[in-house]
Amino acid sequence: MKIADIRTHLLEHKLDTAFESASMRFDKRVHLLVEVICEDGTTGWGECLGPAGPNAATVHAYGGWLKGMNALEHEKIWATLYNAMRDQGQRGISVTALSGIDIALWDIKGKAYGQPVSVLLGGRWRESVRAYATGSFKRDGVDRVADNAAECAGHAKAGFHAVKIKIGFGVDEDLKVIEAVRDAIGTDTRLMIDANHGYDVIEAIRLGQAAAKFGIDWFEEPVVPEQLGAYRKVRAGQPIPVAGGETWHTRWGFAEPLSTGCVDIAQPDLCGVGGITEAKRVADLCALHGVRLVPHVWGTAVHIAAALQFMAAMVPNPVRKNPVEPIMEFDRTHNPFRQAVVKTPFEHDGGVLSIPDAPGLGIEIDRDALKRFAPEAA
Ligand SMILES: [Mg+2]
Repeated sequence: MKIADIRTHLLEHKLDTAFESASMRFDKRVHLLVEVICEDGTTGWGECLGPAGPNAATVHAYGGWLKGMNALEHEKIWATLYNAMRDQGQRGISVTALSGIDIALWDIKGKAYGQPVSVLLGGRWRESVRAYATGSFKRDGVDRVADNAAECAGHAKAGFHAVKIKIGFGVDEDLKVIEAVRDAIGTDTRLMIDANHGYDVIEAIRLGQAAAKFGIDWFEEPVVPEQLGAYRKVRAGQPIPVAGGETWHTRWGFAEPLSTGCVDIAQPDLCGVGGITEAKRVADLCALHGVRLVPHVWGTAVHIAAALQFMAAMVPNPVRKNPVEPIMEFDRTHNPFRQAVVKTPFEHDGGVLSIPDAPGLGIEIDRDALKRFAPEAA
């Protein structure tokens, strides 16, 4: 299974209504897919999280090492590529680019052995997973409190057992949003809050202390990801479980947050942390430290497919008759790439996603859609 070539596919879609998290504004959706092609014609697909242009450049920079290697030797390839940029690239684009390549290699491996990635990872513990609805960004030109409440009521009505809303825009306004959303979804639907590292420690503790009475499952990225001491202060200073990790990369990036008690819930992103290979190592670290794992998912159907395979194989911790089941982040904002890039789109059924059991990631890419959403076609 010698690797012959590597290609990148940039996808771009301009949004009718721009929206914001506390740290980022979105007026278009841009994603990067990676295609690894073997000499025998087998093709694998991956995706990189983050700025698409720099990711594409870095994927191609890895190409020189990658071509000619055996696609089935994923650990050897991971270590070779990581080492190639280690001295200047222990986190960031060098790892997000490597993530997309690694996911494509797992897709190839599954196709080569005729097995879904979840089986190759060790076994399928589940055939479906409950999803939670991510949305409630700050949208241009609308009242945020009413807009978020109406959106979340819709998610609850559609069957989602949990919703996650965006905060980090100011403690007082955020509390009004949290209260309105809780009123709108009732007491049966779980509620999570995500500050996208928009607060400092004092704000995060004040928000957490005041919001706890609304029944919040987790408080995500309260402070900037580099401030591990601040994470520990927020965790100690307010009662809501703290989640984070979508920008922590590799096992080394997770080692200190996990071993020093920064989070109750770790959220590695498969397309950022170093691919499926590295996410498995982070899962082992989470198990070692008794930290729950809920992957971060934000991207196209390729990302969703990779996350579903990974989640199928997540070992319950602890194993018991009715274990704590992983839940799948399911972005509900406008994004055609959730459906358009694959021939069988991912849709939820009453807030539940089925996990494909076809070989590899279990998806078939729609190449016409890739052309349609290429930036030059936009
Ligand atoms: Mg987040």
